[in-house]
Amino acid sequence: MTKTAKPPAPRKTAAAAPSEGARAELAKAGFARLMDLLLHFPLRYENWQDASPLANLRNGETALVEGEITDAQIVYVRNRARNLLVAVGDETGATVAMRFFRLTPALENSMRIGRRVRARGVVRMGRVGWEMSHPQLQSAMAPAEMVAVYPAIGKLPQAEIRRLIAAALEKFDGAETVDGALRKFTGGGFTAKAALQLIHAPPAEEAEKLMEREHPAWRRLRFDELLAHHIVLRRRYRRRLGQTATALSLPPRERFIARLPFSPTAAQEKAMKEIAADIGKTTPMRRLLQGDVGSGKTLVAAAACLACAEAGRTAALMAPTGILARQHFETLSEWFAPIKIQCELLTAETRGKKRSEAESRLQFGISHIAVGTHALFQEKTNLPKLALAVADEQHRFGVEQRLALTEKSPGGVHQLMMSATPIPRTLAMSVFADLDVSILDEKPPGRAPVQTVLISAARRAEVLARIAERQKQGGRAFWICPRVSESESAELQNAREIAAEAGASHPPLNPKVVHGKMKAAEKESAMDDFRNGKTGLLVATTVVEVGVDVPEADVMVIDNAGRMGLSQLHQLRGRVGRGGKEGFCVLLYDEELSEAAKERLKILRDSDDGFAIARRDLQLRGPGEWLGLRQSGMPALRAAKLAEDNDIIRAARNAADQMLTQTPRLAFSHVHRWFGKNFKLARV
Ligand code: ADP
Ligand code: MG
Repeated sequence: MTKTAKPPAPRKTAAAAPSEGARAELAKAGFARLMDLLLHFPLRYENWQDASPLANLRNGETALVEGEITDAQIVYVRNRARNLLVAVGDETGATVAMRFFRLTPALENSMRIGRRVRARGVVRMGRVGWEMSHPQLQSAMAPAEMVAVYPAIGKLPQAEIRRLIAAALEKFDGAETVDGALRKFTGGGFTAKAALQLIHAPPAEEAEKLMEREHPAWRRLRFDELLAHHIVLRRRYRRRLGQTATALSLPPRERFIARLPFSPTAAQEKAMKEIAADIGKTTPMRRLLQGDVGSGKTLVAAAACLACAEAGRTAALMAPTGILARQHFETLSEWFAPIKIQCELLTAETRGKKRSEAESRLQFGISHIAVGTHALFQEKTNLPKLALAVADEQHRFGVEQRLALTEKSPGGVHQLMMSATPIPRTLAMSVFADLDVSILDEKPPGRAPVQTVLISAARRAEVLARIAERQKQGGRAFWICPRVSESESAELQNAREIAAEAGASHPPLNPKVVHGKMKAAEKESAMDDFRNGKTGLLVATTVVEVGVDVPEADVMVIDNAGRMGLSQLHQLRGRVGRGGKEGFCVLLYDEELSEAAKERLKILRDSDDGFAIARRDLQLRGPGEWLGLRQSGMPALRAAKLAEDNDIIRAARNAADQMLTQTPRLAFSHVHRWFGKNFKLARV
């Protein structure tokens, strides 16, 4: 919003340094570099060129008008505030009354009878003719032009944002960082500088075309950005080929697989084979294992950990939460006990003597598998024999955490990342251009389907009654209260209310609440009660705490389901229906839920295919949100759209490889232009 009615900045502004105040606003909003300003793209353009004749105005439209001031006076309104009323007439003989209520001396001074003004704003038909309320003014001297309107940056007025961006454009070093031959792809022959210039300050006839990102100027920027992205990833890929890791081999089937109470699915067999081939080499593995929730990723991870243990080395399995870590620890301990492979649990709660003893056992090769949370990667933890690192729910870990882990071992470390969010191929190619991918596209047999229903939150009591009924047949229910506002305490209060209501109306449910602020021991005891059936209803504030495997759980209720992403909802739903009993997923919605949001939930109701749901989710939300890219350590993409840029992605990947081989210096200047010199190209 403009602070005062200032004219839009003329196109050519002296490249003045931002003021102290502007600099503070920029810093607060995360604008650190020139490029950050240049990549702050316009929301739309306003035409300041063609004024509408006053006689042709339409009620309610936003119009640019031009004319001569025929009257100007200060009036006092209710609370003694001063307003400036200005009458403007044009050649058509019509007039418009403009009312200004944020007065400055400059404004009052400029509104003199006989002067010409250009102003833009919403026109309304008032009692005595056209009226405009505090329109935006352009001094009659300034050149007519298209003006970009930008997303807000803190409290900076639009005019200031425009001025800063115009100055940044002037300063921008336009040197070409992409070889001519590689640029052919972007068509049009735009340089990056010309493309930016056009997008920020287009001539009137181009503005409309620029609103679509198919314009050649946009294609150039999309290509450049994806190229920078791929140079980073492909360089990482190449560096890995130069490192060495310990070659590991999977033990004979009789030693592990044959002892399990079930046989692996064909998909699990295939993934294990792919992993065996990778870790059998001395090049460090970087593999992403994708599989819908419940597809059995843990078993695949366990087989790789065992290969590592058999070689006398340490394997680390990291989970995003303490509850999940403990669950993995228990599963692996149970599977490995008969073959005398020992596991250690390392979480934030494993402290002091307990911790140092666990570390010693790993160091001396008494135990071989470390299961833990982030704490596992704290510098304090010493894992000198580390040869394999597995990250479960990989999308919730950043690149930094992955790196911290590998740095614990002097040699290269094999890495397996697991994710329940299936990523479409081209997207995986781009976001994880440094990884190989295995897919579990099949679920273990004996899964009962989960029925999904949409129910108004007003019918909470009915849902509780149903849960209490099922408990009599051995059922158990999760009730998730996801984060819907900034305030954490609101969710907690909601969770407590539900637990209290359930406890009061159905005492045998004995509901328990788990939330983020609880101590680990308290969480564990609540989980244990749920697992062994003492508790029939587990109310959780954070989704985080529910990546758990409780076969008896048969109902999943999700409060405020409309606020969550489809993939996330699908994963939560996957927590029930595991024990061979039919499962129910109840999506509770507010009456206020929009039709669009209801449609979204219906996708979930009508499909059980994680890949199909992920594709829809991606279309609806865009990849940044969807992949948790913000946590991935990669700079966010601003020009490109991963979901739509398949052809550009392919070209950028090839160009990146070619530049790294033929013109590495150019490749680095390109990355520095996009991501800044501080971006740790060497490490990522
Ligand atoms: P996710 O891929 O979501 O991590 P899990 O590894 O937790 O899935 O497996 C889900 C459940 O399926 C677990 O109880 C696990 O023991 C079981 N499971 C895994 N593989 C098989 C299989 N081949 N046959 C039967 N049950 C299996
Ligand atoms: Mg899992």
